[in-house]
Amino acid sequence: MAEQIPLVALVGNPNTGKTTLFNSLAGMNQRVGNYPGVTIETKKGRLHHGNEVIDLLDLPGTYSLAPRSPDEMVAVEVILGHKEGERRPDAVLVIVDASNLERNLYLTTQVLELGVPVVVALNMIDVATHQGLKIDVQALSRKLGLPVIPIQANKGRGIEELKNALSQVLRKPASVAGPVFPPDFEQELDQLAKHLPADEPRFLVRRLLLDVGGYTEELLTQKHGKNLQEVVKAARQRLHAAGHGVPAVEARTRYGWIRQVTAGSIQRPAQRPVTWTDRIDKVLTHWFCGTLVFFAVMFLVFQAIFTGAQPLMDAIKAGQGWLADAVREIMAPGPLRSLIADGVINGVGSVIVFLPQILILFAFVALLEDCGYMARAAFLMDRLMSRAGLNGKSFIPLLSSLACAVPGIMSARVIENRRDRFATILVAPLMSCSARLPVYSLLIAAFLQPGPDATLLQMMTPGLTLLALYMIGFILAPLIAFFLKSSLLRGETPVFVMEMPLYKLPSITHILRRALEAGWMFIYRAGTLIFCCMILVWALLYFPGYHPSGERYEEMIVGLEKLAETQKGALEDLSGKIEEMEEAKQEVPGELYFEKHQLEDQVDDAEASARKLAAEWKGQSYLGRLGKFMEPAVRPLGWDWRIGMAALASFPAREVMVGTLGIIFGEGEGDDEAFQQQLGDALREATWDQQPHRKLFTFPVALSIMVFFALCCQCVSTLAVIQRETQSWWWPTFTFFYMTALAYVGALLTYQVGSWLTGAY
Ligand code: GDP
Ligand code: MG
Repeated sequence: MAEQIPLVALVGNPNTGKTTLFNSLAGMNQRVGNYPGVTIETKKGRLHHGNEVIDLLDLPGTYSLAPRSPDEMVAVEVILGHKEGERRPDAVLVIVDASNLERNLYLTTQVLELGVPVVVALNMIDVATHQGLKIDVQALSRKLGLPVIPIQANKGRGIEELKNALSQVLRKPASVAGPVFPPDFEQELDQLAKHLPADEPRFLVRRLLLDVGGYTEELLTQKHGKNLQEVVKAARQRLHAAGHGVPAVEARTRYGWIRQVTAGSIQRPAQRPVTWTDRIDKVLTHWFCGTLVFFAVMFLVFQAIFTGAQPLMDAIKAGQGWLADAVREIMAPGPLRSLIADGVINGVGSVIVFLPQILILFAFVALLEDCGYMARAAFLMDRLMSRAGLNGKSFIPLLSSLACAVPGIMSARVIENRRDRFATILVAPLMSCSARLPVYSLLIAAFLQPGPDATLLQMMTPGLTLLALYMIGFILAPLIAFFLKSSLLRGETPVFVMEMPLYKLPSITHILRRALEAGWMFIYRAGTLIFCCMILVWALLYFPGYHPSGERYEEMIVGLEKLAETQKGALEDLSGKIEEMEEAKQEVPGELYFEKHQLEDQVDDAEASARKLAAEWKGQSYLGRLGKFMEPAVRPLGWDWRIGMAALASFPAREVMVGTLGIIFGEGEGDDEAFQQQLGDALREATWDQQPHRKLFTFPVALSIMVFFALCCQCVSTLAVIQRETQSWWWPTFTFFYMTALAYVGALLTYQVGSWLTGAY
């Protein structure tokens, strides 16, 4: 049997340089993975040292190994060797921040109890030195009883020594000793262990006793029965009476031990020198100056994703159109051509069209985090956002969602706390994204445009309406977040430890890596789902596709378009001839003018018939039939089946609303201003199917459509990203239903109240 490659797990507090160290150890040999059922990501890599090979596993950054959720349980399970499909690590590499040693060693003491050999990487040595700390590494190593290797991960210093230490530990694992809990506590632990099967690790029994309301409690009672709770409770009460109440006893024991260990091996300067970071912080965390800077920075970020991505997105759309045209050019009409031109190309396009925004936003997030500003921004916003039950870091996701919820939701990864992260993700789609804008502007232009003798209020109506539509999101998002946090996402709010890392020059490679990672992740994980939905909607709109005469709509339309094309050619020839004659001052025979008019009429007729057929085709399609079937459901909103069907077709992506309205109302497709104007006219003229005197679109109907769009989650991409980020189908399902319900009720109220007010009932 071949010898197994040893496995080393990397753990450490957040922001200690874990990722940097991992990258420098594993280089390009790494890949990101997920365990089923949890939201966190772990990375695997492989390092080569001489002719030795070691596998590396990067676990999520954490301050403590006291799990409060399945997410936080992952690190514990992996190190205990309980994770399915994962080998038990042969050693753990703990990375600690030398400038913040005591706090970082807390996690180390917990790792020691897992019974695996440990190597300590003492990172940020440069920062510690800069702060005037003197660390006697050898003394520290002796007292800890562990190999301690000073490194500076971002400069690659000490990496060789670290590799040596790792291979040494793997060859000759040493036993480790850590803090000792009071004897009373250990006795209770022994007693408790007797209620559990012998193979339950000591570490978990300890956690069970220590973590009130923790995840271990949930897990073990599930496994071993409810009465375990009573036993634990009684044990905790006895400990409390003996002066060793949980959880205080843990901090006391661990920090007591850490103090002993560090005493004599660290020297602090009598006075901490005032650093640049202190000086900059005076300004950036000042309530007024800091807030000013914050909004300026946010404006920049927002502007960059909103306008900076536009040319790229336009280019993608243009390329998509060009490719579709090219396919239509070379292939004969039929389902296959339509599948490729309208389904596949459209599907791929609707995935990659998000890339520019994702890349730009993630580059900014990485930049802000890397230079150290993110923590200050979170600190400033925390008070405001925590009123809504969110956290300071929710600001960026929500703001970015004004451009597009997809990058916005992905950027919620910067929020460490799970409940806050989920709440932010679930309300982000309520922020009015840029894809809603075309619908708003079409309807506002068509139905709210003030006439020439409008009053001031009427003049302001378009602007105010748009503002109101945006306000819906601003008001509802925090409200719903608040409700979620007090219902579905209820739980303890952990003490929010906000670390203020030092300011530093950001690293370009780090920023690029983060942006590309996010982009790839989106395409790889969310792309397939989005793509499939696009194909599905294409099929629902394409089939069955037979005209009552038995001919295929597509062929009839293609025939008409060809006819229009040839007539146009003839028209051009004739016009040229007439012009020539006019220029030569010749008499033009009347028949020629007559012929020209006739040709013009024929072209118009053919084009109008083609558009009418296209509208009929959509009406006859499966989606159209569904729309008709559903008409009773949308009637209370003031809609007929055509509006209902357009809204239905927009569920995968709301961008298609305007185009779909264009086709259904016989104006064809387009996206320029002239088209909008034309479509607006057509909408104003449209009447109910059976009642040619009753206008379909009234002011309340237009409003009700807009409110529906403001509230509804008509975006498969958003749902796919929520699925990815929460690692569950339940949350996207929930989001879809709560937003659709909200949209329906909102549109219903808008229409009913609006009709009552305007008397248009
Ligand atoms: P993680 O959260 O633990 O994964 O930390 P990262 O690897 O993302 O590092 C956090 C920041 O610290 C990054 O900006 C790194 O460039 C920086 N960093 C990492 N190691 C060192 C170091 O030894 N010295 C200094 N000054 N900065 C470091
Ligand atoms: Mg990291």
